[in-house]
Amino acid sequence: MKIVVHIDDAAQWQTALAEALPQATVLTSDAPENERQNADYLAVWKAPAHLLNEQIQLKGIINLGAGVDYLLKTPGLPSDVPIVKLRDAGMGELMADYVLYGVLHFYRSMDRYASQQQRASWQPHAVPEKAQWPVGVLGLGAIGSFVATSLSQAGFPVVGWSRSPKQIDGVRCLHGEQGLDELLRQVQSVVTILPDTAATKGILNAEQLAKLPKGASVINPGRGSLIDEQALLDALGDAKHPGHLRGALLDVFCEEPLPANHPLWQHPSVIITPHMAAPTPLNDAIDQVVSYIKAFEAGESLATVSPEAGY
Ligand code: NDP
Repeated sequence: MKIVVHIDDAAQWQTALAEALPQATVLTSDAPENERQNADYLAVWKAPAHLLNEQIQLKGIINLGAGVDYLLKTPGLPSDVPIVKLRDAGMGELMADYVLYGVLHFYRSMDRYASQQQRASWQPHAVPEKAQWPVGVLGLGAIGSFVATSLSQAGFPVVGWSRSPKQIDGVRCLHGEQGLDELLRQVQSVVTILPDTAATKGILNAEQLAKLPKGASVINPGRGSLIDEQALLDALGDAKHPGHLRGALLDVFCEEPLPANHPLWQHPSVIITPHMAAPTPLNDAIDQVVSYIKAFEAGESLATVSPEAGY
């Protein structure tokens, strides 16, 4: 069995996979072309098109991350090869930490204290009851549901939203257009952990952002395409004309890296992180990749990515 790996630090992944699957030949994508051809499996993150196009006997493609937007847009992606993606694989916990940090930032007025510090202003702010601070989570998949549950366990009322109806302990689960409307109108912070698909592009546009209560905040560790960035800037306003929204914690952007002259960099109510909310943890990911390959080899049915749905 031949597996070709493409990801940053591929050598590390190659070593770990070869140890876990001693019967397999594991190569990195910089192996000579004649060696890396005829692979049975590709385990990839942001692979170049030629790596996908040159294969003729693939049994499966394993996406080494949760988001498949890049892979599905790769020209020449074979349409008859099943694709699986990492599901949670340790990313849920990292994402939950990131989101909790963001929610607490606004809930405990850390944004206000940072601004007051510039003026040496000693001014405590009241802490509202957590019950008065509902948080909305858009996307209740492997990672989103982990985040929603963690926020609920931290004491926040949580409203979740997904494409299909769901039941998650401690989370009020909504779906459909009406569900989104209901969620946005009541939450103090909205967290977007949706995939980048045709249906989710610009889901938080000017109209939807305007539904949020005045002073609400936005946390986006999902994908940049989910939010209309200009609409977000407009809703945030500026120092002279504060807008409807209070602030945003953003990890992902329409263009990455975020261009140096982008106005989001300069906005005092925006915190920018460089797409680092939930990097893939190697060991958990390797365990999952190995279990996928074993399942493929055993002919078991697997939850595969739907290219039509885009996730
Ligand atoms: P999943 O594929 O497991 O879940 C996706 C969720 O989004 C599901 O609940 C799905 O609904 C919902 N969804 C999809 N389309 C729609 C729609 N049109 N309307 C409403 N809900 C929709 O993804 P994960 O939870 O694993 O990850 C989510 C995203 O987080 C990834 O796609 C990626 O973009 C991002 N991410 C970012 C990282 C970072 O470091 N910044 C790291 C990891 C992931 P349903 O359940 O009904 O199918």
